[in-house]
Amino acid sequence: MANTSSPFVHWLGKVLPSLLSYTQSGIQGSTQLNSTISRRTFLDAAVKAAAISATGGLTSVPAASASPLSEANAAAPAAGSRIVDIHTHFQAKNPAYIDEFLRMSDQLNLTGCMLTPFEHRKVVADAAKKHPHQIIPFGYVDMDAPDAARQVEEFHGLGYRGLGELEFVKKPYSDASYLPIYELANRYSWIVLFHTGIVVREKFQEPEDVASYRMGAIYLEEIARNFPKITVIGAHCGNPEYEWAAEIARWNPNVFFDLSGSTLKKLGGRLSDIAKYFWWSDTDEGTDNPSQNSSAFSKLVFGSDSSPKDVGRVLAQYRAMFDACDVPESARKLILGGMLAKSLGLPD
Ligand SMILES: [Zn+2]
Repeated sequence: MANTSSPFVHWLGKVLPSLLSYTQSGIQGSTQLNSTISRRTFLDAAVKAAAISATGGLTSVPAASASPLSEANAAAPAAGSRIVDIHTHFQAKNPAYIDEFLRMSDQLNLTGCMLTPFEHRKVVADAAKKHPHQIIPFGYVDMDAPDAARQVEEFHGLGYRGLGELEFVKKPYSDASYLPIYELANRYSWIVLFHTGIVVREKFQEPEDVASYRMGAIYLEEIARNFPKITVIGAHCGNPEYEWAAEIARWNPNVFFDLSGSTLKKLGGRLSDIAKYFWWSDTDEGTDNPSQNSSAFSKLVFGSDSSPKDVGRVLAQYRAMFDACDVPESARKLILGGMLAKSLGLPD
């Protein structure tokens, strides 16, 4: 789920009600997340519309590409090593989604951890069986649903490899009522992707029981320590609490973060700031890390949170951050896929 600030979203609710048909059944009290378009696309469209609205006409903000094989992807060709995207939301309302994903996957040599609502578990399980090096099925459960643990077990039975993106919780992530989910994930040695930080508001006119503080990166520490076989990944690096997120990753070998969402855009003019948070490279101040890489940046993983046509653009943002922070080549490879490819048993 992409990040944004609430006043901005509130304003969008007034200005853009007819701009987009953005429907999400899952947030409306049930268990599923079915975006007709990705959240990133929604926000990008909103930002473009804001630029139009503010100036009374078109500005220099570029139009989104309509092609699934976009210019952004063409500009980010496969570098040889496999890229692993921890943050690929299955888009149930787009019947061509799997095909579009597979084309992008071929183009970029990319494997996606496909975050799948329970309702769509079979179609993604089947696609993953057919394309095991391109699609890794991850299950989304509403953690507050009374049968959440049973759903997790069923995902496991279907060959799912992890959970995510867990979000929109009614209580903080470390609440005792969620322990049965973590116990199962720990038993399966799964990767679990949690939304962290500020969260988009879906409804503007009705009450909505969603609050970003419940999804703070700070709660991941307790889960990682009590369930050491879970690989805990926080989406969005706790935006805007990057320092807390990085420090929790520093002290916990099984905690990582992705930089999807608005962060790399927000810090676009000062990407070297990221090095202030991931500061402990080549010191003895970090803890053991499965990769034994001395770069603090090895605690990051690639996540796009984007439609297939936009993944290349997020890759370019990551690469710009690598350059701005002088991230060593060995750590770049781990971030873009090396760490997850190893843990998921994927080939190069
Ligand atoms: Zn999210």
